[in-house]
Amino acid sequence: MNIPLLDGCFVFDNSSLEKFQSCPYEYYLSQWQRRISTENRAGLNFGSACHHVLRYRYLNCDSKECFWPPHYEAITSILEQHFLENPEPPGDYRNLNLAIEWAAAYNNTYKIEPFEILKLKDGKPMIERSFMRPFCAIVWDNKPTPLIPLSKGSQEWINKNGGSAMWAERLKKQGYIPVFFTGRIDLAITDTTGDWILDHKSAYQFGSNFTADMMSSPQFIGYAWEFKQYYGHLPAGYIINAFRPRSPVKNAAYDTSLLWRTTGKDPDFIRLQKHISQQDLDEWEQNTFSLLEEVMYHYSRGTFGKHKKSCVGKYGKCQFYELCNEVAPEYRDAYLAGANFMDNTWSALNKPEQRKEPVT
Ligand code: SF4
Repeated sequence: MNIPLLDGCFVFDNSSLEKFQSCPYEYYLSQWQRRISTENRAGLNFGSACHHVLRYRYLNCDSKECFWPPHYEAITSILEQHFLENPEPPGDYRNLNLAIEWAAAYNNTYKIEPFEILKLKDGKPMIERSFMRPFCAIVWDNKPTPLIPLSKGSQEWINKNGGSAMWAERLKKQGYIPVFFTGRIDLAITDTTGDWILDHKSAYQFGSNFTADMMSSPQFIGYAWEFKQYYGHLPAGYIINAFRPRSPVKNAAYDTSLLWRTTGKDPDFIRLQKHISQQDLDEWEQNTFSLLEEVMYHYSRGTFGKHKKSCVGKYGKCQFYELCNEVAPEYRDAYLAGANFMDNTWSALNKPEQRKEPVT
């Protein structure tokens, strides 16, 4: 078992740590072995398509009114390209047509945004900004060794000396493994109440559990931590820009306005907001640090334990259910390498740059 390194550095993101907390073995298979199931990706696929459209919408129209006719063709072309490269499973309702109708409904719901998009240091708008921020260092001694937190002095040194690459090189020369926190912030905005991080979420269902999940998710506190490192001050909090694809109701084939509810008691577009404090950031930092120590503990033991209670969760079976529960141990390596799985190539760092998107 080898620790996966990127140019000699260990890189983690929020979703990898979420997997680790759910089941260390799932984390190991998906993040270290880099294999994920080819099945049940319709929801994720649809969410990715929407992210591409929102990137286009905010890059081209900022927070101003996005007149639909001049942009219809470009947005349709983005969606067509996405579904051509990533077709939905046969018969699944989260398809190209639903996505086109979603784009129109979203645009109608949020014609003019009540905020301004914040600018990056180079003057560009902060839209889908990937980051890779020094977090701590690993001393590897073939046994569990406490991780070394990033001191205030190190952070100041990084800022003063032009970045994290030099910090990483310096650590590597001293025999350490630099650890980076990575992610992608969908939008950073400002309104009359302060600066906010805004994250787009395609939701399976809305309700009290979804709200509670979003209000307690470490993902956005991590983004706020990064926001503070970048801008030097804490944001007021985060906003979840959520939408809910539903199985089409009767008659939706004849009346596409039934596909997306934009008004009424239970709309398919909602925004949730949460304030955060410095204590939230401190707690996130400590907790993340502890989780990374746990990851290294498993690595030092040469085994990532199976949390069998997570084999079936709120969204159904784990992607490795058959592998862990139905395939005999001696065939598991071959099964994992087979057609039911594919390479996990996702990275917060590379996706936006890989796409060619029309800009009007
Ligand atoms: S099937 Fe169960 S044991 Fe296997 S990776 Fe998933 S949660 Fe872990």
